[in-house]
Amino acid sequence: MSSGAEVLMVVGAHAGDAEVIAGAVVAQQVHDGGKAVIVHLTLGERGQGRLTEQEYARQKADEAQAFGRVVGADIVVPPYKDTELAATEEAKLRVCDGIRKHRPDVLISHWRGSIHRDHVECTTIVEEALFYAGLPSLQREHPAHNVGLLCFGEN
Ligand SMILES: [Zn+2]
Repeated sequence: MSSGAEVLMVVGAHAGDAEVIAGAVVAQQVHDGGKAVIVHLTLGERGQGRLTEQEYARQKADEAQAFGRVVGADIVVPPYKDTELAATEEAKLRVCDGIRKHRPDVLISHWRGSIHRDHVECTTIVEEALFYAGLPSLQREHPAHNVGLLCFGEN
């Protein structure tokens, strides 16, 4: 990620995943003059037992936005539920539309062998969304876009 014109997208299953997987890469990308978009497919609102899901969702949303402000990344949070993430056509097309809108050169996400089922679903969603995003015959709001490089990380 050296050219300032490049766009990086990171897609994580739970808010916090993308930051752990690629937070430093995101910060460097924006520091170098590029653009970064982080997609949290869920807020990870069931990830602890002290607060209610609603309270923790609010905290996680605030933390995600704070990270975005600090590093200068756009934050996108689709309305999916922690532990219920599913590789549905709707989710694949939603991520496809985000890829077509932001036109990333590089995309980073979970690897298929990750330990959490939502992470594995996220991998499937991303891989199929990349296919849909690059399909010229698939008519959506934005034109087709092929991502040059898909990388996998682990948290
Ligand atoms: Zn996670």
